[in-house]
Amino acid sequence: MHNNQDLSLARANRVLTERLRPAIHSHPQPLALAAHRVGGEPIPVADGLAAEYVPAQVGDPWGRAWDTTWFRVTGTVPAAFAGRRVEVLLDLGFDTNMTGFQAEGLVYRADGSPVRSLHPRAQWIPVAKEAAGGEPIEFYVEAASNPVLLDYVPFLPTEKGEWETAGEELLYRVRRADAVIFETEVFELVHDVEVLLQLAEQLDAGSARRAKILFALDRALDAVDLQDVAGTAAAGRAQLAEVLAAPAAPSSHLITAVGHAHIDSAWLWPLRETVRKVARTTSSMVTLLEEHDDFVYAMSSAQQYAWIKQHRPEVYARVKQAVADGRFVPVGGMWVEADAVLPGGEAMIRQFLYGQRFFRDEFGIECRGAWLPDSFGYSAALPQLLVGAGFEWFLTQKISWNERNVFPHSSFEWEGIDGSRIFTHFPPMDTYNSQLSGAEVALADRNFKEKSVGSSSLAPTGWGDGGGGTTREMIARAKRLADLEGSAKVVWEHPDVFFARARAELPEPAVWKGELYLERHRATYTTQHKMKQGNRRNEQLLFEAELWASVAAVRAGRAYPYELLDGTWQEVLLLQFHDILPGTSIAWVHREAAARHARVTEILQGVIADSLAALGVELVEPVETTAPLVEPAETTAPGLDKLDQRDLLVNAAPIAQSGVGAGSVGVATAGSPISATASGDGFVLASDSLRVELDAAGHLVSAVDLASGRDAIPAGERGNLLQLHQDFPNLWDAWDVDNSYRKMRRDLDAADEVRLDGDAIVVRRSFGASSIEQRLSLSADGRALLIDNTVDWQETEKFLKLAFPIDVFADTAVAETQFGFQTRTTHDNTSWENARFETHAQRWFLVREPGFGVAFANDSSYGFDVVRSRRGGAVVSDVRFSMLRAPRFPDPRADLGVQRMRFALAFGADEARATELGWAINTPARPAVGAALAPLVRSSDPRVLISAVKLADDRSGDLIVRLYESSGGRATTQLLLDLDVAAVRAADLLERPGEPVEYAADGAVSVELALRPFQVRTLRITPA
Ligand SMILES: [Zn+2]
Repeated sequence: MHNNQDLSLARANRVLTERLRPAIHSHPQPLALAAHRVGGEPIPVADGLAAEYVPAQVGDPWGRAWDTTWFRVTGTVPAAFAGRRVEVLLDLGFDTNMTGFQAEGLVYRADGSPVRSLHPRAQWIPVAKEAAGGEPIEFYVEAASNPVLLDYVPFLPTEKGEWETAGEELLYRVRRADAVIFETEVFELVHDVEVLLQLAEQLDAGSARRAKILFALDRALDAVDLQDVAGTAAAGRAQLAEVLAAPAAPSSHLITAVGHAHIDSAWLWPLRETVRKVARTTSSMVTLLEEHDDFVYAMSSAQQYAWIKQHRPEVYARVKQAVADGRFVPVGGMWVEADAVLPGGEAMIRQFLYGQRFFRDEFGIECRGAWLPDSFGYSAALPQLLVGAGFEWFLTQKISWNERNVFPHSSFEWEGIDGSRIFTHFPPMDTYNSQLSGAEVALADRNFKEKSVGSSSLAPTGWGDGGGGTTREMIARAKRLADLEGSAKVVWEHPDVFFARARAELPEPAVWKGELYLERHRATYTTQHKMKQGNRRNEQLLFEAELWASVAAVRAGRAYPYELLDGTWQEVLLLQFHDILPGTSIAWVHREAAARHARVTEILQGVIADSLAALGVELVEPVETTAPLVEPAETTAPGLDKLDQRDLLVNAAPIAQSGVGAGSVGVATAGSPISATASGDGFVLASDSLRVELDAAGHLVSAVDLASGRDAIPAGERGNLLQLHQDFPNLWDAWDVDNSYRKMRRDLDAADEVRLDGDAIVVRRSFGASSIEQRLSLSADGRALLIDNTVDWQETEKFLKLAFPIDVFADTAVAETQFGFQTRTTHDNTSWENARFETHAQRWFLVREPGFGVAFANDSSYGFDVVRSRRGGAVVSDVRFSMLRAPRFPDPRADLGVQRMRFALAFGADEARATELGWAINTPARPAVGAALAPLVRSSDPRVLISAVKLADDRSGDLIVRLYESSGGRATTQLLLDLDVAAVRAADLLERPGEPVEYAADGAVSVELALRPFQVRTLRITPA
């Protein structure tokens, strides 16, 4: 018989698009429209309903960028609609290709109760499942005219990312406001045809199944009268019943669909808009759950629940009920979907602590899995932190974004730096916004790597970012894909159910050891420096504030500031969201985040000063309590270079500083004699342990560690060399730096001025409209070179690095990660190594050979690179701090203005020295007067560091102490407690008590603890 499959496919596609889909809604009856333009920030719902409305028409323009317009839609259901399903269609000028990135609305009844959201792909409002005819229609729509920033030509610089610069142009035009009949049978026909057509497109051209489907589609379309689709839809469907009923093969892949909307907590819109995006999406999702018994919806981020609880309580009440019913599923157990490489270890733990606490308090549940589909890489410390917080599984799909290498597993065990393992799944559909299209379903099947033994994968299903989540169309597809010959099967399921099955299918899962490095978005370690600076500063201040507040509570009976610390932690955790801390949001977001960081700093400085005051210790340099809210406070902390002037030092760090022990207040030992002198054309900084020479242009030409006599700088080379690169990536300006950047480099050789200033050397350079002042000095103990940089940055699409050629033969560079460190090769033998041309560290990184290394520490930056190069017959390590970038999308003025950062270099260093240096420049000792204080808790082994001392989250008064093994080896330490103790128990990272721990209490209380390499342990101590 003759058949032409191409013609059948083309026919089905055209009829579906042009005739069947438009026939789902029939008999449009225009409704009356009125509008109220807010002209500023959103107003309360009650005000919106009560506002003065002016008549509006279809065709009217509306909505300047970021404004809110309230629409009122009124009319009467026509008598002819009696007995039919009736909806309102309201098209505010949507572009269906830009779903999630443009105008959206939330629909209310006249009494203020929410109905559902309006989105490009869901422009309908339910009126009646079976209309009586004659009933009144009255809806109000809170419509946000968010501008499209990621446009058809993406990544163009835009001024629309701030209210003030966005312009007054009206961006949208109302296209439609009608009451219509919803033709149920046509809707079903559309999805019969669509699912079969999309399946046929994926099947092999020679397959019998494909031929049978196309034959059936032709027969169905023969039966449909295109002038009366509604009247003939049933006849068309009858022709498809047989091919739709054919069951899937027994070995078919099984896709767990989980309803989802990946809503970025801020990105191309400000934080306040996310509050409304969440309210819109969740209001639609609870309605969808009510209408479809088998549907399951998952939402992450306790912060997003907290927002609707506070701002849209009527929506939240319905969400809470749906959670109680077990089908609206909180996932992830985190405060937000944070970046997963830049936050410090303690902050990652608090993401879990505050996330799970919220879900426990609000819903009586804890999440069993961590859900980070979109963060830009995952720290090698995470497996331990996830397991330690009680998680059983981990999900992401982001590694499918790798530019170069294909990750070899879909389901596997992920092993961290300490050997902890967690079962992990990467949805092989390679998306967190599945539509359950035929192409996506086929990709999941094809791309699933464990298919020789397993057959299960997960698909987060729904429009994200304010696209409205899962749609009834996706549910209609899932229904047909449940058991369909030629296709993978689809079932709506709780992710825990999926993970239990997926794990059972893989008795011997493959193991991936170490970080999940994302081969993309490498510039997010550097972009928007103030985000990095605020995060680091406040993480360190939180550590310090909790320590002194705990000591003051235990020793002086001062009330522990639970509320202040909870509030500041939650701010810092929010600002770690994976488009805020990485620096990839619009200007509005970053301006607000910097102000929020400054406010947190101010509060924490107050907590520290007040706690110390209660202990009889007065900080000499008064704590800044009137820090401006917009400009973050200075990070250059007092003390490190001024020790000789003060009597007492407050040392919160878990390392000794200037002779003052960890976690104590004491008298500083005399600092090392330090000199800064001119010498010939250049300058010399010298101490008992270090001699550093600079040339006349302020470059480092020698750095001799006097203990070993070794010069770290290769002969004839220059360190402290600023290098400026052109930096215009192929895509994703704020996110990406492409390897080609290295080829376009300008060394900033010339200095405007190099001079002595006390015991420091000041170097000033200018380039283009930019300038930098560096202040080079030695630390008070004489053991480290400090470089304080103040950059007036006025570049466009440039990347600034600070380079140090180091005479060290190192195959690997060592970088601090959360609670430990990891190594990465400095060569690029393989494509995996080649892809890691820009990497990240927490407070320090290190190049070393046995017996000698150089440590590089920072107070506010994360990016760096190390390249091996051959100089004068030897291979040396070219080590560079990443300082600043100047991308123009999405913030056209990212990083412009004055930026400050401090670096420190230690010569003759190993990992232990690097760890110490990292702590020292981030939690420097503070000059003070008053009473010395012995530490409340102390670890006898210097490799075991205390990372948190706080009162328990449950407000029982128990003391929580967290410590970690920092060397990558085994350690046994005595934890010494200077308080009367009633009980010591082990605890997990969420502070839940476990087994009692033995302790000795003759004199001081001591607890002997053995730790594995990089192990993190938590103790819960009940005071007597
Ligand atoms: Zn995201």
